[in-house]
Amino acid sequence: RAKQEGKNCYRFFEPSMNEDLEEKLLLQNGLRYALERNEFTLYYQPEIETGSGNIYGFEALIRWISPEHGFIQPLKFIEILEETGLIADVGKWVIKEACEFAKEINSNGKTEVIVSVNVSPIQLTHSDFVDSVKQIIKVSGVSPRLIGFEITETALMESFSQNIEKLYELKELGIRIILDDFGTGYSSLNYLRKLPISILKIDKSFVDDLMNEEGSPLTASIVSLAHSIGLRVVAEGVETATQFEILKKYHCDLIQGYLISKPVPKEETKKFLNV
Ligand code: C2E
Ligand code: MG
Ligand code: MG
Ligand code: MG
Repeated sequence: RAKQEGKNCYRFFEPSMNEDLEEKLLLQNGLRYALERNEFTLYYQPEIETGSGNIYGFEALIRWISPEHGFIQPLKFIEILEETGLIADVGKWVIKEACEFAKEINSNGKTEVIVSVNVSPIQLTHSDFVDSVKQIIKVSGVSPRLIGFEITETALMESFSQNIEKLYELKELGIRIILDDFGTGYSSLNYLRKLPISILKIDKSFVDDLMNEEGSPLTASIVSLAHSIGLRVVAEGVETATQFEILKKYHCDLIQGYLISKPVPKEETKKFLNV
């Protein structure tokens, strides 16, 4: 084919374009069967209470271990799942797994450990979403109070009124709604008041700003803003002791990040629990 194109300079970047497309098609194909072939798994990353250091809960993060492609990061395949519509079934599977996990780790009834999942905006737009959540919760036997749904700001803004209604319904059930990656979108403070959220997760970029003892006035004010409207605050992507100390000083409620732990397979979560 190169011959056909002769000395055309397009040739120089065409191969890489093809490679990208080819890779995407390959992944797309693999993803079609990944669920039925049990290739997905959930990793869990702990979130701790800043003051006490006690475990608050875990965030479930999907992983795809493909026999053909190896270990693939969600940022590479969530988008494909969304584009192909496969996210509906995979998303339900994630919720089901997470509910079962929450049920299991809370079975001693001593402390409450919350399990949250990331919900794609596409999932939210499906008409059967709320019903399927109710069904999954019922079958798993978990208390909805132990479940959190993380939704990004931009996702919420996309079809605001429609999504808001569903989120209110889910909140009514007892599910905690968490605004993920907060600060990266552009929701007005007015929107924030209208959202049925109970927790705000500050985006890692604002945690990255806390490089030394000086801290960052912006990060501090996000925390106090959230508190002033009755929300709890989680900081994501906390990697250093300095960041932790500053967030503690700002009264940020919860901490998540490599400093505490990377996301780990289910079997490894026991070390964070007194079981
Ligand atoms: P997210 O929900 O904002 O999750 C946080 C991401 O940051 C995770 O990446 C996590 O592994 C990573 N992370 C946590 N602590 C640190 C840290 O201290 N430093 C650094 N550098 N990174 C940290 P991951 O697992 O690759 O997930 C990426 C994104 O993919 C998630 O962002 C979420 O938007 C999406 N995602 C993951 N699992 C699911 C899922 O089950 N369903 C949907 N719809 N989206 C998911
Ligand atoms: Mg998240
Ligand atoms: Mg996040
Ligand atoms: Mg993030």
